[in-house]
Amino acid sequence: MNNNILTIIIPCFNEEEVLPETCSEVGNILNNLISEKKVSPKSKILFVDDGSKDDTWRLIKEYSKQYSYITGITFTRNYGHQNALLAGLSVASKYSDIMITIDADLQDDVKAIYKMIDKYYQGNDVVYGVRSSRQTDTFFKKNTALAFYSLMKKMGVQLVPNSADYRLMSKRAVLALLEYQERNLFLRGMVPLVGYQSSKVFYERKERFAGKSKYPLKKMVHFALDGITSFSTMPIKLIMNLGILIILISIILMIYTLIQKFNGGTVSGWSSLMISIWLLGGIQLLSLSVLGEYIGKIFTEVKRRPRFHIKYENYSQKMK
Ligand code: UDP
Ligand code: MG
Repeated sequence: MNNNILTIIIPCFNEEEVLPETCSEVGNILNNLISEKKVSPKSKILFVDDGSKDDTWRLIKEYSKQYSYITGITFTRNYGHQNALLAGLSVASKYSDIMITIDADLQDDVKAIYKMIDKYYQGNDVVYGVRSSRQTDTFFKKNTALAFYSLMKKMGVQLVPNSADYRLMSKRAVLALLEYQERNLFLRGMVPLVGYQSSKVFYERKERFAGKSKYPLKKMVHFALDGITSFSTMPIKLIMNLGILIILISIILMIYTLIQKFNGGTVSGWSSLMISIWLLGGIQLLSLSVLGEYIGKIFTEVKRRPRFHIKYENYSQKMK
């Protein structure tokens, strides 16, 4: 018998249309894994109802009466996808050895779960689901996504391109992730910070088979901005560069205006105005960036992110 308990965590927000299908497809995968002795018979599916207004929670309750492997959490209100995922992980991590998160709409290929489990047994603590193509995305979504990944990279944020929140994590990786106390969650940026050996599984991402996307453009832009401002103080550094650039320009301008002035032909007051506008602008930007540097420090301090994760130590055992 295999003792590794797997929990498949599925966040759901108004997903009554997709839930029956999701329940049976993911249920099949889980049952196959159990019968192939890849995971423990105690393995579960955990639906996280993110304050749905429709019949989602009623369905989840019904399924969990019907099937022993189906469980659920419901929130008091809608807290958002990322919070739903984290809640699922924090509840599941008490009992599970392996946790997989997947969206309710089956856009991500559930069969990739088999490959993820194999990669786990090959010694990976994190397995990212990576979409191999973006054929089903609109031109706009594909290109904005690509631009976002390259921008994030320039900002010094480590992301796995084309991976979202479809991934496997081992218990110890999830416990490390739960040490991050920040409120602005951007899990796909946080998971790589956890470290450990990781791997990727590629799959084709499909269209949502029913229901509407819960991520309209406005929410997506907010999410992207959240990603940048939760992970990078690069924008502050850019203010500093701009400040330095403008001060340099003002020095060149100073020389130019003085030459003009001594050659005659300038209106009186022009030189002093030109010099002061540019120099003051530069000084202001530079001062702002000094303040920004301190705010950047406060930003990293208040996050109270763990300073390190220890993979193994035997000191404590030997001291017993
Ligand atoms: N979701 C959630 N809370 C929200 C919004 C979305 O739990 O406030 C869930 C949703 O039910 C789905 C997943 O997050 O399982 C991804 O949402 P969706 O498929 O609508 O996003 P898209 O794939 O269009 O980016
Ligand atoms: Mg979707």
